[in-house]
Amino acid sequence: MTGLSEIAPGVLVGTSSFELTTTTVVAGSEGGCLLIDPAVTVAELARLAADLRELGLRPVAGWSTHPHWDHVLWSRDLGRAPRYATPAAAAFAQAELAELAREAQQSAPGHDVALLGRLTALDATVIPWDGPQARLIVHDGHAPGHGAVFLPGTGVLVAGDMCSDVEIPLLDLAAPDPLGDYRAGLERLAAVTGVRHVVPGHGHVGDAADFSRRLAADAAYLDALTAGKPAGDPRLTGPGWLLDAHEEQLRYVRGPAS
Ligand SMILES: [Zn+2]
Repeated sequence: MTGLSEIAPGVLVGTSSFELTTTTVVAGSEGGCLLIDPAVTVAELARLAADLRELGLRPVAGWSTHPHWDHVLWSRDLGRAPRYATPAAAAFAQAELAELAREAQQSAPGHDVALLGRLTALDATVIPWDGPQARLIVHDGHAPGHGAVFLPGTGVLVAGDMCSDVEIPLLDLAAPDPLGDYRAGLERLAAVTGVRHVVPGHGHVGDAADFSRRLAADAAYLDALTAGKPAGDPRLTGPGWLLDAHEEQLRYVRGPAS
């Protein structure tokens, strides 16, 4: 019994104790696997490495969906596979390494900081590996160079920090156009045909109907936010930090008080 559940043939998802962060494993050929966003605590990464060994899988490629600390972790036990991210994400992680390490240490202490955020820029439409085709859907919503992964063979969309059932859209308020970037990202995800399973970066795996519902809920949240109206979003009953983020986003759209 491992901490991973198979959501589609050859696609396994683990869920962390920290903010329901997901880890996705895609089995490839000859025991190789693609490992997306391994997370979160030191103990969970140790368990993940042990689970992969038990399943006869070894990471031959890694993918970080976006350059936030909880999506750029790694451990020695996971091996030395290339860890890809979009060029913008890899550059951001490199520039913000010290801050990412500080945040990781605060929320999930004890990680090997020498391995944190060490990403290889990949300017491509698919991840180069010999397993099931893994298409990239790249945008700047939530974080620079956010790269979702779509597996057309199984209809699995690994969405990164989008399409969550537990988190509202979290904007990258440091970007010049946070709302426009997020909307563009949602549109890109919505344009993917054949999604049968959606894996959010935080939250629960959903089916095609959940995917549609979450896209609609995220768009409705952004509409309410833009209009400065109360969102009435059920996800706002979540943890305090999420409510704080919502308040900060409201302040952002309202602009500086005149
Ligand atoms: Zn994030």
